[in-house]
Order: sequence, then structure tokens, then C-alpha cells
Amino acid sequence: KRLVRDLLKYQGVRNMSKMREEAYIDGQWVSAKSGKTFPVLNPANGKVIANVPDMNETDAELAVDAAHKAFQTWRNTTAKERSVLLRKWFNLMEENQESLSRLLTAEAGKPLAESRGELMYGSSFLEWFAEEAKRINGEVVCSPARSREMIFIRQPAGVASLITPWNFPNAMITRKAGAALAAGCTCIIKPAEDTPLSAIAMVDLAEQAGIPPGVVNVVTSSRGNTPAIGRVLSTHNKISVLSFTGSTPVGRLLYENCARGIKRVGLELGGNAPFIVFNAADLKTTLEAFMVAKFRNAGQTCISGSRFLIQSGVYDEFVGMIKDAMETRLVVGDGMDNGVNFGPLINQSQLNKVDGLVKASIAAGAECLLGGKPHELGGLFYEPTILTNCAETTPCFEEEIFGPVVGIRKFETEEEALQIANSCDVGLAGYIFTQDVSQAWRVARQLETGMIGINEGLISAAEAAFGGVKQSGIGREGSRHGIEEYSEIKYLCFGGIN
Ligand code: NAD
Repeated sequence: KRLVRDLLKYQGVRNMSKMREEAYIDGQWVSAKSGKTFPVLNPANGKVIANVPDMNETDAELAVDAAHKAFQTWRNTTAKERSVLLRKWFNLMEENQESLSRLLTAEAGKPLAESRGELMYGSSFLEWFAEEAKRINGEVVCSPARSREMIFIRQPAGVASLITPWNFPNAMITRKAGAALAAGCTCIIKPAEDTPLSAIAMVDLAEQAGIPPGVVNVVTSSRGNTPAIGRVLSTHNKISVLSFTGSTPVGRLLYENCARGIKRVGLELGGNAPFIVFNAADLKTTLEAFMVAKFRNAGQTCISGSRFLIQSGVYDEFVGMIKDAMETRLVVGDGMDNGVNFGPLINQSQLNKVDGLVKASIAAGAECLLGGKPHELGGLFYEPTILTNCAETTPCFEEEIFGPVVGIRKFETEEEALQIANSCDVGLAGYIFTQDVSQAWRVARQLETGMIGINEGLISAAEAAFGGVKQSGIGREGSRHGIEEYSEIKYLCFGGIN
């Protein structure tokens, strides 16, 4: 049994009984069959905090076999039994919240207060799906013939592959695994390369909660081996469902793989959220929503405000307000330090992408009002940045920037705002700020996104149906709809009734 010894000492990460550097397959804590490992770095200082198994297709196949074997029993558990186990897992997540938060900050860089927020949000999916497990109901429909009754029952879909990103290493797992287990599926979790430790720690708690061997498995891999694991998790004939959160190109690849095996697919891909401020907005409310919608996780969230469209009547005043707030309220540094509310970006390639898009946007005519370069702290820190005079074709408008960059465009009419907002091929979240109720409804109806915050910047909740339209994805997570991805309708036709 190998523990992440440094982490146990690391700035208060303690009280976790088993902070492991191992993956979890069929109820066993295991190394990669090849014996290889890869390092996990703290993005705030570049130090190695753990070494975890660098698995490949051999390990992935063992995990699929384990999940498939466990499914034969788990599928026959009652909803009540699954609900009780999910609630035990939830309770353990709550008890270990502080340690899990510190672990999250250590591997993902987000400020500790945000990590605590993610833990509450992440755990809430287990609590929510513990309840929803008991509400997976069928239907009895009207039959066209007296001699027949027509009934639909819902059954678990099978083994689910859950591939998750680094920006919410905790919540993206519970949002999928909670729903999968509630529905009666077993699963294989493939966490992101940058943040496997949260996944390992959470599954440790799942084991402590009494979730049987094989029902939840974790395979970890470096960037080099991930495509091989991804192939197994999207093509193996024992896999029935794939749920993926991450980039559009990887989502497309996995979708293509799943198409060959006709698997169920849930995809949560990139966004490029329009954040529309009308003349009728309450600017104080809008500013607070702006700060949370934009700077959570240093802008590395898929529902982060990305394209800021501000109507001419409030343009100067609101741009002044956000510049002032960004200069005075954002404290950049190691998320573990008191008072810091803005951490590093996750890795060098993300920093290069953000910096590249900023430079290309300026070259294309955007004006840099604030920031615009890596932060003087060095490493993976980037300056909070404002770019004005953006157009639909400006790189930071065309592509989701996934960083602390505010691209702004002034508009005159509602029609113009909608035309720009809907001009891209993704549609995850959108934000509308106006005190004119008719305008809010009108614009919300026409905005091509799966979710809309109206005078609100923080829209995520276990109760909410999370997902996008256009190339932002397929399906919904959370809410009662989140379970649909993991269950099948079976139609029973009872005939011969006299
Ligand atoms: P990514 O798509 O590369 O990674 C997401 C997950 O997919 C990780 O677990 C990764 O290991 C895995 N993965 C990568 N290649 C794979 C393959 N061939 N087969 C199977 N799994 C594979 O995304 P990223 O590099 O972590 O982030 C890049 C972009 O993704 C961001 O800029 C952002 O646009 C988007 N993103 C979106 C969300 C979201 O919630 N919608 C979250 C994170 C990132």
C-alpha cells in the first residue's frame, strides 16, 4: 500500500486514511501492469506531488472486464440499496471535505475557497442521485387493444466509461458516476492527466462506503497512453455508454469510435459563452455576476463568460467598472495562500494557448486595456486581461479562450447582440443582463445555448440540467435528466388478457 507521503504532510492535507498513488480495478489498489508511473505536478510551483500508474490498454481491458463482471450483480440491486451506498459515499465526501479541497488545490491550482466550493458542489451530485435513484420510474401507456397492456420499464444501460477533465476534477466525476451508479450501471473513470489524485481519493471513499468491487474503477494514464486507453473505453464491446467532458476534438474522436459500436454517448464539450449586458441592466448585479462567471478557476471553466457584448448606453461605465474590479479585487498567487482568489493556469500548453490567442487577437485589431501577458510571478500565472474592440472573427471571440481574458464588443441593438452571440458553432452557456423582463424572455428564447443565466453568473447545481446545443455536446447531466443517459427503456407488451 503506497501512500502519497508528501501530500499527507503538504499544507494540511491529512486525515485521509489512504492517500494513494495507485489505480483501482476490481476492488484492488493496483499499479500499471507495465510498472510505469507518471508525475502529478502542483501548477502553483511546478513541484511533483505524486507519481501515479501510467496505464495502457492492457490495464483498461482489465478494468472493463471487472466492471462488466460487477454489472451482472449490481444491475439487480434495488434502487434503495444503491441509494443507501451513494449516500454513504456522500457522507464520507462531506467528512473529508477539507482534505479533499486541499488535495484539489494542490493538483489543480484553484484557490482553496473555490476548491471547498467545488467539493460541496461535487458531493451534492452524490446526494442528489442517491435520491433520484429511487425515482427511476416506468410508464403504463394506453393500449390500442383491450387484450393487451403496454408497459415501459427502465433498466441500467450497462458498463459506462467516464472520461473527465482537469478543471473540475471532483465534480465532473460525481456528476457522471453518481448518475451511472444510481441507474444501476458500473463504471470506469479515466481522470485527466493533470488531476488524477482527486479521482483516486474519491474512489478510496467509495470503497470505504461499501460500494462493491468492480462497480467503480479508476484507470490513470499519462498523455502518451491516454489515446490507447480512450480507444478501449470507446470501442470495447462490453462498454455500453461513454460520457465525456473535455475538448471538442477529443469528443468528436470518441463519438466516432462509439458510432462504430452503436454506443450511447453523452458529451459535454467546449463553450464560448456570450455575456450580454443591455442598457437596461443593473450594473452592480452585473458586475458581481461578471466576477464569478469569468474568474472562477482563473477563467478555466466551460461555462465561463467568454464573449462580452455590451450595449452602447452602458458601455463606458461598465467597462470602467470591470477594469477597476479586476485591478483591485483579484489577488493572484498560490491557491493555498490566504486571500488568494486567482490561481495559476493548469499547465504550460494551456498558458501558451491563452497567450497565443491574446497576441493573435491584438494583431487582428483588438485593443489591450489591461494585462495581456504572463504574470510577473512567472510559472503558470497569467495576468487578468481585457481586450476591447473584438469582432466575430477576432481569435479570442472565434475560439474558446479558457483563461482569464475578457474579450469585449460594443453593440447598438438587441438584434445585433443576438446575431453576434449566435454566430459561433458552439452553444453551452449564455448570460443576459437586463431589468426589462420582456427583453430577458425574448433574448433567452432566441439565444442558441443549452443554459442561460439571466441576471445571474453562477448557474451550476445538481438540480440543474447541464449541457449544450450545437457542437457543445449531446445530452444533459445533473437534474433528473442526468440518469436518462445511463438507462434504457424496455417495452413490455402483455397480450392475451381476456
Ligand atoms: P481534453 O479533451 O484533451 O481532455 C479531457 C479528457 O479527455 C482528459 O481526461 C484527457 O485525458 C482525455 N483525453 C484526451 N485525449 C483522449 C483520447 N484520445 N481518448 C480518450 N480520452 C482522451 O481537454 P484538455 O486538454 O484537458 O482541455 C482542452 C480544452 O478542453 C479546453 O481548452 C476546453 O476548451 C475544453 N474543456 C472543456 C470542458 C468542459 O467542461 N466542457 C472541461 C475541460 C476542458
